[in-house]
Amino acid sequence: MTLGKLKAEWEDLLERRPSFHAPLSVCGDILDLWARWSATRLSPLSWTAAECRERWERGVPLLAEAPAPIGADEIEDLLGALMERIAELRQRAAPELQRLAEAWDRGAIRPHAFFPVAGRIGSGLVEETSGLAPELVALLAYGSLRPALDVYFASVRAHLSGDAWRLAACPFCGGPAGFSDVLEDGRRRLACHLCGGGWIYSRVKCPFCGTESSQDLVRLEPETVDQGYLLIACKHCHMYVKELDRRVRWNAQSALIEDWGSPHLDLVGERAGYGRPAPAPLSALCRG
Ligand SMILES: [Zn+2]
Ligand SMILES: [Zn+2]
Repeated sequence: MTLGKLKAEWEDLLERRPSFHAPLSVCGDILDLWARWSATRLSPLSWTAAECRERWERGVPLLAEAPAPIGADEIEDLLGALMERIAELRQRAAPELQRLAEAWDRGAIRPHAFFPVAGRIGSGLVEETSGLAPELVALLAYGSLRPALDVYFASVRAHLSGDAWRLAACPFCGGPAGFSDVLEDGRRRLACHLCGGGWIYSRVKCPFCGTESSQDLVRLEPETVDQGYLLIACKHCHMYVKELDRRVRWNAQSALIEDWGSPHLDLVGERAGYGRPAPAPLSALCRG
């Protein structure tokens, strides 16, 4: 999947849901920025299948032991453009964004401050330095890291076989699940929007805390008849993920496009009192 193709899918989705055009304009902006990005020095991680498997058997995502050497200058334009867009849409966050810009300029914040660490996006340094809400930090992380991480993991994607990884976080970058797909064969594939990774995961476990308790896992069906879409929420960790049954909706778009393009489903989760480790852009802007 090239990042340029995501933009084309996004245009298709907006044709299906024209009323989302204005509120979701920031998503289109991010996809435009991604499509224009090109790697300067960053080259793909060249680990062998055995080297990857050794980490996965220990439950360690690759990024934790092979931190991507993404230079500040490589993502600076992307990050800067996104910060400007957020400042326009969320004017009250302007002072925090200004502090982040100053910290970035003096080298106190570098790209790896946005990398995921156990259960969260970023080390916490960005929030601490700037005062930005975690939702907006996650949005900046997604917006500025995705193209670089996509390139970085390009060669190791094929090393992941069906049962090599059983944890809830992304086996490549360690980010949280962004979307859940039920595939043709009935298996579930989780998608990571931070690096573009995907992995097979049990359908009877929570994709965040891993609980298997059937009392804790609830299905939330949207009121509108949107066949194939539902939410899986967890009473144990209070998180939800949107799930698409591709046996019903065989012509749906990529996981990221389906996720960002369905804010009406996020409302169902939020109204029921559940959250997401990394909200879709519209929720992040509303809550951040
Ligand atoms: Zn990932
Ligand atoms: Zn849970």
